[in-house]
Amino acid sequence: MSVVYHRLYFSCPACAASGQRAGPPTYWYHSDCDGPLDIGSDATVRCSRCYFASHIRHWRYSCANHQGDYRSTTSSHFASSMSMSAALLAAGGRSWLISILGNLSDW
Ligand SMILES: [Zn+2]
Ligand SMILES: [Zn+2]
Repeated sequence: MSVVYHRLYFSCPACAASGQRAGPPTYWYHSDCDGPLDIGSDATVRCSRCYFASHIRHWRYSCANHQGDYRSTTSSHFASSMSMSAALLAAGGRSWLISILGNLSDW
């Protein structure tokens, strides 16, 4: 089955993981090239400009609360940030989300 990508749009999952109040949902950009990031049904995050791709567990996040400080998250915080993004759910739909969750594994 081919991987389906949608533009990543959610609140900072690293803030959620550290118990901080996460800001509003935003788009996310690759630190190396500023390309917009996409999330795929195989649980990879891929840069739409340079096509660097890696499993979600390898990514780190910098948001307005900690600019330039790239922080990790956990699978459960990533999943909850994702499922709270109405725009992401509307774009991908339920089966797409379930596919990501099935490929997420625990970390
Ligand atoms: Zn954050
Ligand atoms: Zn890139």
